[in-house]
Amino acid sequence: MKTVNSYAANEPGGKLNPFKYELPNLGSDQVDIKIYYCGICHSDLSMLNNDWGMTQYPFVPGHEIVGKVVAAGRDVKNLKPDDLVGLGWNSASCMHCDQCMDGSHHLCDTVEGTIIGRHGGFSDYVRSHWSWAIPLPEGINMKKAGPLLCGGITVFNPIISSGVKATDKVGVIGIGGLGHMALKFLSKWGCEVIAFSSNPNKKEQILAMGATKVINSRDSKELESIAGSLDFILNTTNVSLDWNSYLTTLGPKGKFHTVGAVLEPMAIPSFSLIMGEKSVGGSPLGSPALTRTMLEFCVRHNIYPIVEEFPLAKVNEAMKHLHDGKARYRIVLKI
Ligand code: NAP
Ligand code: ZN
Repeated sequence: MKTVNSYAANEPGGKLNPFKYELPNLGSDQVDIKIYYCGICHSDLSMLNNDWGMTQYPFVPGHEIVGKVVAAGRDVKNLKPDDLVGLGWNSASCMHCDQCMDGSHHLCDTVEGTIIGRHGGFSDYVRSHWSWAIPLPEGINMKKAGPLLCGGITVFNPIISSGVKATDKVGVIGIGGLGHMALKFLSKWGCEVIAFSSNPNKKEQILAMGATKVINSRDSKELESIAGSLDFILNTTNVSLDWNSYLTTLGPKGKFHTVGAVLEPMAIPSFSLIMGEKSVGGSPLGSPALTRTMLEFCVRHNIYPIVEEFPLAKVNEAMKHLHDGKARYRIVLKI
């Protein structure tokens, strides 16, 4: 048994208060991680408020974790105590279904969420299956690496799965935690990147992140000015926007991809897809192997989120800061 000191809420939208719980004996395929930093993703806020109807209380958020392995079960072959690792949205998968056998563990039917029905990273320790404790490359900046484990891989995966090319002209909707990492990845990829933002105060910073142009994400008239010009659009907002206007900014064979968890159904007129052979998709996170590749890409190109650090004891202030739309651009808790 191991005692974990964490912060938990007891009801939807409740305050996070100090909370202790016991971890049972370590399984043979599990590792325990001492947490150094944990990012705050909008999904932590959505889960805290039970927006998706699957939160169990007491609820310990936190799924952008970096830390050090302190214990490894006897069947764990790739990790040992003192190894630096990251843990994101997922903490286990079955390892025998077709998706796991194919390397798409994030699509496993029984994938375990780090903060779903178990406790996450607003804590001093967290446990996971070895497969989702991602070894961190040498030289990584630990203070800024946490958000790459959820937000980062969530926006990196569609660049690969949609076959985005260096010569493409692309758009990113919503320049928050995920959106600003997407801008950095896509501009290093070689793309021309247009940012769609609802906040004019972010413009200078958005241009400094590598965007060539900023367009008001809520102004359909402004969207008309780039009609037919984009190859790929990544949506990171969770609100309803004029999706049809976005489809008209795509050129023939263009792809619209959402990772933002838009709560309402998205209205997509069929003829906006049929004419021009356009497509719409979405995705969760990415595989453990692609997460490793992404981390190496980040170290090689010095791609990190812009972070604001809060101590764990100020976690409620930090959550409010994100809720109020004030995070620039990702909050990281120092544990
Ligand atoms: P975030 O930091 O809060 O950023 C969201 C951005 O959306 C905001 O910064 C804002 O950008 C824009 N936005 C917010 N309200 C808006 C409004 N009323 N009108 C227009 N734009 C608005 O959130 P995040 O952590 O990046 O997460 C974004 C979404 O991705 C969430 O839904 C989260 O649950 C989801 N998510 C999904 C996955 C997945 O696997 N698919 C993984 C992680 C997160 P501007 O100020 O630039 O307009
Ligand atoms: Zn997340």
